Amino acid sequence: MATPICLVGIGKIAVDQHVPAINGSDDWALAATVSRAGTVDGVPSFTDFDQMLTERPDITVVSLCLPPVPRFDYAQKAIAAGRHVMLEKPPGATLAEVHTLSAMARAAGATLFATWHSRMAPGVAHAKAWLADKTITRAHINWKEDVRRWHPGQDWVFEPGGMGVFDPASNGLSIITEILPMPIHLTAAALEFPSNRDTPIAAQLVFHGNVTADLDWRQDGPQSWDITVQTTAGTLQLHDGGARLVIDGAQVAVGPDREYPALYDRMTQLVKTGASDVDLSPMVHVADALTLGKRITVAPFHF
Ligand code: NAP
Repeated sequence: MATPICLVGIGKIAVDQHVPAINGSDDWALAATVSRAGTVDGVPSFTDFDQMLTERPDITVVSLCLPPVPRFDYAQKAIAAGRHVMLEKPPGATLAEVHTLSAMARAAGATLFATWHSRMAPGVAHAKAWLADKTITRAHINWKEDVRRWHPGQDWVFEPGGMGVFDPASNGLSIITEILPMPIHLTAAALEFPSNRDTPIAAQLVFHGNVTADLDWRQDGPQSWDITVQTTAGTLQLHDGGARLVIDGAQVAVGPDREYPALYDRMTQLVKTGASDVDLSPMVHVADALTLGKRITVAPFHF
């Protein structure tokens, strides 16, 4: 039987990905939404989260599609009310608040799933398996996209806690932390802040072990979501955010791109087995970059 689920924060990602993924699955039934303005046709909608928790005890799972800053309060309330919780990426505004949610979920016997959708891209598991026994000599993340296209008018990305270019770049970091057979840590970073904004629009990162990242949110035209890993046994490339895998110049066949359906499949398994999945390693690198990074002021940015 399908599990009733509530989606909270009916904005871009809820509409683009979560609603289709839930509607396309036999495991889930979209039973309610909570949003101040957004609704989904034919689905009961609430504007007040507490009211939904009280009036819909049949809904056992809540998926939070809000930006990171407001998300903690909702997650805390949901766990306290005995619900299982899915968090969009990045899982919180701070590392400590996600540790708090993890502890709460453990104590309550609830599932907490900090999702990293890019890890579900079809090339990622293949890449991880191929790299498992390799010696890495160099790795590079090239993550360059157009913020106006992917976050149209969303000022929260440039407000404190919005993380700026690290909002999309955490996808690249979620892949590299998944596929490399060794841990990495940041040694230097340069962060480019628009003069009128509180978060970086571009960043260059250097990690121990000859790993680098070039992140930019000002890319017009073709978008770049690429990772290259050189090893003593050949070179692996992931393109299109992990959807396309190339090893030594030859394209490797991977499955269809179904990142969000795969996240909901994983949530089904986690709830069924009473487990949680909270890996903060991508966000650790974001926090380290914001701790260690040299600040460079660049031209003001306007949507
Ligand atoms: P969004 O459309 O700006 O926000 C999602 C919804 O959250 C809004 O529609 C709004 O709904 C609610 N919200 C915003 N600020 C709030 C606040 N202060 N308090 C309560 N509710 C608030 O953002 P999004 O692009 O969907 O991104 C949401 C999350 O998904 C982010 O963490 C992002 O990294 C992740 N994500 C986004 C994309 C993308 O392409 N945009 C892709 C993958 C993942 P109401 O105003 O109706 O309440």
